[in-house]
Amino acid sequence: MPTSRVVLLPGDGIGPEVAREARLTLELLVSDVEIEEHLLGGAAIRATGEPLPQETLDACLAATAVLKGPVGDPEFDAADVRPEQGLLALRVALDTYANLRPAVLGDVNVLIVRELVGGLYFGARGTREDGTVFDTCEYHPRQVERIVRRGFELARTRSSRLTSVDKANVLETSRLWRRIVDELAPRYPDVQVEHMLVDNAAMQLATTPEQFDVIVTDNMFGDILSDLAAAMTGGLGLAPSASLSDGGPGLFEPVHGSAPDIAGTNAANPAAMLRSLALLLEHGLGHVDEAGALTRAVDAVLKTTHTPDLGGDATTEQLGAAVREQLAVDATAALSYGA
Ligand code: NAD
Repeated sequence: MPTSRVVLLPGDGIGPEVAREARLTLELLVSDVEIEEHLLGGAAIRATGEPLPQETLDACLAATAVLKGPVGDPEFDAADVRPEQGLLALRVALDTYANLRPAVLGDVNVLIVRELVGGLYFGARGTREDGTVFDTCEYHPRQVERIVRRGFELARTRSSRLTSVDKANVLETSRLWRRIVDELAPRYPDVQVEHMLVDNAAMQLATTPEQFDVIVTDNMFGDILSDLAAAMTGGLGLAPSASLSDGGPGLFEPVHGSAPDIAGTNAANPAAMLRSLALLLEHGLGHVDEAGALTRAVDAVLKTTHTPDLGGDATTEQLGAAVREQLAVDATAALSYGA
């Protein structure tokens, strides 16, 4: 009997292509897992009129963990019902407020911890009578406290350095953020904490990224800084993310979008999706050994096999197959060492 249930949401554009590689790899690594596929985003709008159909939401709420491909399709850019609305609604429904985005390359090993269900992307918005359009950044202290706590706790599991990024010289929400970081800091005396303004943080990340360990920041700043960190450590095709709640199923997804420009051409890099699967194995299913094995296999394959985004000519399927072959080779080697 399967002991865990993973809901796979292939999504749009290159989503189904990279999701297929993740599914085959999950099936190889974990035998007692039930995998259920559901629609989200543009694919769901076409089939049901809704970007997050009730059936998909119910399955996600009942899952052990959710593995999601990117959503978004230019077809819906000017529509009232858009694919991305489904993703935002899913994040809120699962209350996955803590978005972890690791960026690793050479000396750089930074973990960006981004608040995911508050701030500018969720505040009041609208159009005034005079035609002015507005979005507002709103945070309740409880929302800030729980993400900052996560930041401190994650820093503890690494090299105990936390950078809190805000715009406290301008924004009220940032002043609240900074106050809460300062209030919590004495409870984590082993963690060295610093504040940094977001404009400076972007410059520092671009010039000396190796200075950072854990960065904790709000929704919009985290969105932008994590794409920058991804670009500096190999590109969007390599960057995974984990979005965690307190106790409910986590949502694991690549940082990249649906890449409509290469969709359907078997040219997408599945590494970010496979690394998201590794985060799911670790944080979602508690399969730490398998997570480590998959991370090592992806790293090993990326030394020699490259999809077009990294200057090579390997296809999505070839890279996925190479990772599974590497896993088999490593497993055989581990058995023979153990014998
Ligand atoms: P994008 O990430 O889809 O693409 C940016 C560039 O990176 C493109 O040239 C694309 O070909 C390339 N790229 C991205 N992922 C790649 C991969 N795995 N392998 C190789 N190349 C890759 O960003 P965009 O073009 O700004 O957005 C396209 C759509 O995706 C939009 O509808 C957007 O809203 C959506 N989007 C969704 C998510 C999500 O589901 N979490 C995140 C970002 C963007």
